[in-house]
Amino acid sequence: MPDVLARLEALRTGDLPTHGGRTLAYVYDSGLADADEIGRTALASFGATNGLDPTAFPSLAAMERDLIAFARPLFHAPPEAVGTVTSGGTESILLAVQTARDAATVERPAMVAPTTVHGAFHKAAHYFGVELVTVDVDPTTMRAAPAAMAAAMDALGDRLVLVAVSTPSYAHGVVDPVAPIAAAAAARGVRCHVDACIGGWVLPWSGFAEPWDFAVPGVTSLSADLHKYAYTPKGVSLLLHRDPALRRPQFFASADWPGYTMLNATMQSTRSGGPIAAAWAVVQHIGDDGYRVLVRTTLDATRELAAAIRATTHLDLAAEPDASLLAVTTDDALDVFTLADEMGERGWFVQPQMAFRGMPATLHLTVSAATASGVGDGVEALRASVDAAVAAGPVVVAPELRAAAAQLDPATLDDAAFDGLLQIAGLGGDGTVAVPARMAPVNALLDAAPPRLREALLIAFLDRLTR
Ligand SMILES: *Cc1c(COP(=O)(O)O)cnc(C)c1O
Repeated sequence: MPDVLARLEALRTGDLPTHGGRTLAYVYDSGLADADEIGRTALASFGATNGLDPTAFPSLAAMERDLIAFARPLFHAPPEAVGTVTSGGTESILLAVQTARDAATVERPAMVAPTTVHGAFHKAAHYFGVELVTVDVDPTTMRAAPAAMAAAMDALGDRLVLVAVSTPSYAHGVVDPVAPIAAAAAARGVRCHVDACIGGWVLPWSGFAEPWDFAVPGVTSLSADLHKYAYTPKGVSLLLHRDPALRRPQFFASADWPGYTMLNATMQSTRSGGPIAAAWAVVQHIGDDGYRVLVRTTLDATRELAAAIRATTHLDLAAEPDASLLAVTTDDALDVFTLADEMGERGWFVQPQMAFRGMPATLHLTVSAATASGVGDGVEALRASVDAAVAAGPVVVAPELRAAAAQLDPATLDDAAFDGLLQIAGLGGDGTVAVPARMAPVNALLDAAPPRLREALLIAFLDRLTR
């Protein structure tokens, strides 16, 4: 092996495994070696092509049209619906928000979404100056509450430009009631975006009973990531609009410079054809029948895991799952952060989610098809991890530390103060950072920090990690 490739392999040794079904966030494994191989080959062979100009690389434009054509019937999109291939769920959501903002000519535009909506909407609010008003979800189902959503829409009056729902939400894996919320948006003449980033390639084959896509009148746009459950290499999501007029403000052209006239459908300008070609190849290869089998395998595994979790003393689920995501809660005998560390030691990555607005801290499990063959092992690891976490007892954040955290105003802190805080949190200090093997004490402290302080600390961490 050439030296640089050996060095690349060596760099990967600290990474989470992308395959094997035991990394239950970030990555998605179909378990199909041939689909992986086809994706890798297409990714490599189109890596140097440029989607900047669809007339220069018509192959990429053709592949994008094919991907949208494949997606259209899955989401009951009408014949006049149009779509765009983006680099990921966040870009699809950013564009949906930007387009809604620019279609409306209002001062101080605003949008309404449940508290469980993905952080990408907060990012869009931050980037585009669209205020995000979040509405508490039903505390028993964790689904958006239609009456409260409608009241929030009314409170915004003419400022309202967009309403968003998730199918399902990332944190709890439940599908929001799309029909009443989209109807309320339509009645007020505003757009309704369905965030199917994670569910878009699951729900069409799952037998989910409620209408949730373009079959619902009032749904104006929908995002679905291919780099999740379509099992394509990273860097591809779809954004569909119900008709071309709704999409029109998404396009950007600039003739205000002496170079080529800039003409973009997405936020990126130069964009690699690699992920597009890889997505095209994998979607063609797996196909409708293949995805049906993968979804059945995944949902059977999810149900098996859910039942085992509910049957385990000290564990429960935060919500009844509607798709392939689980949110695990614990009782007071242990905490989710220690449980995550214990799972990590047994070779399973599960993602800690902090407490938020009365919702408990949870462990997030994204189940993919490759997890199915290891469910028995996973349950065994989980039960052993629970025993170890109960024996260790929950991490205790010193009350004086908790009180101090509640007092801190991150806006007033300088670099030295952040170094001190990072040190207290166990994440380094003195301008350097380190990630400890056991994250539970760090996570428990971050969990106790008010959201603004948690954000500021993590930004300070990233700042130092990237120096
Ligand atoms: C993953 C996800 C996103 C964001 O997608 P990225 O591809 O990570 O940018 C948005 N919404 C939901 C529900 C998701 O699961």
